[in-house]
Amino acid sequence: MSFPDDLMHLIRTDEPLGPLVWLGIGGPAHYFAEPVEESEIQRLVVAAKEQDLPVRILGGGSNVLVREAGVDGLVISLAGVTENQMTIDGSEMTVGAGAKLSHAVIKAVGAGLGGLEHLVGIPGTVGGAVVGNASSDGRDIGSVVKSVKVLDKNGVSRSLSQQEAGFSHRKTSLGGLTVVSVTFELETRDVVALTKRMQKLWIGRNASRPTDITQIALPFIDPDGMPAKELLQSVGLAGIREGDVSLDANQPHYLVAQSGATSDQCLRLIERVREQVLLQTGIDLQLNLEIW
Ligand SMILES: Cc1cc2nc3c(=O)[nH]c(=O)nc-3n(C[C@H](O)[C@H](O)[C@H](O)COP(=O)(O)OP(=O)(O)OC[C@H]3O[C@@H](n4cnc5c(N)ncnc54)[C@H](O)[C@@H]3O)c2cc1C
Repeated sequence: MSFPDDLMHLIRTDEPLGPLVWLGIGGPAHYFAEPVEESEIQRLVVAAKEQDLPVRILGGGSNVLVREAGVDGLVISLAGVTENQMTIDGSEMTVGAGAKLSHAVIKAVGAGLGGLEHLVGIPGTVGGAVVGNASSDGRDIGSVVKSVKVLDKNGVSRSLSQQEAGFSHRKTSLGGLTVVSVTFELETRDVVALTKRMQKLWIGRNASRPTDITQIALPFIDPDGMPAKELLQSVGLAGIREGDVSLDANQPHYLVAQSGATSDQCLRLIERVREQVLLQTGIDLQLNLEIW
């Protein structure tokens, strides 16, 4: 396998992915690239296509579980793209996909633009949030997206409208595409009031997370009408353990990986939980976490 000479400096082989994802576990990427410029993302996608190499995009790694076997293809991390700028034009804000979501929220709030503040504290990037239609407080990010700039599998750039991006509960139609940047349509509001609201939400969010643990993930989508947390508590699965992986005892919608945890243990625990929930309630819990 060979990449064009002018991309070779970006390519690493057998790059461990564990340190790049929140769960801190999982095998390597056969090929790994961390582009610096937006144009390099496109050239990498084109080069991979020419060699029939599957491509996966890594944002902040807060919603990915990497199997022990790793990823047999090219993983492109957007964390190093320096063009992750944020520009504001009236009530529109355009943000590079690799920018941290929290930075985008703070930037919008500081400019007196409302519509993103409820997402403060959700880990990861703007691209990851848009692809998975991240939500909080019953409102999803898709509701304030005006357009999404994407690359298709051939590296062709397109701008998709909110409707074309197909936002629904924790889902979009953006699978298989690379999100490069996002334009939000926000509402002009009072900066002080917005800042207070954001701070309040941030404190609330931190209080509802397992404390002092960094290797965590939110494995399940809230089923209709009931938060996953309450459902898991009600069926007695809080604290359930598989090896060094467990559901948190107080916040059971969080999966916690202790030292020694493996991806196989995570997968086994997730399957046990889904089986138990189905058996006891008839609810087929859907996965939020992406399994690589
Ligand atoms: C502590 C904690 C709290 C959380 N709280 C919430 C919450 O309140 N609400 C919520 O909705 N989620 C929550 N999550 C889940 C997670 O943070 C979100 O799904 C987040 O938006 C994922 O962004 P990311 O950049 O980390 O994506 P990653 O984990 O890097 O990737 C997730 C998926 O998106 C794809 N992807 C990422 N970037 C791009 C791109 N630019 N183009 C194409 N595909 C891309 C990846 O290929 C992968 O399939 C939480 C997770 C944790 C660990």
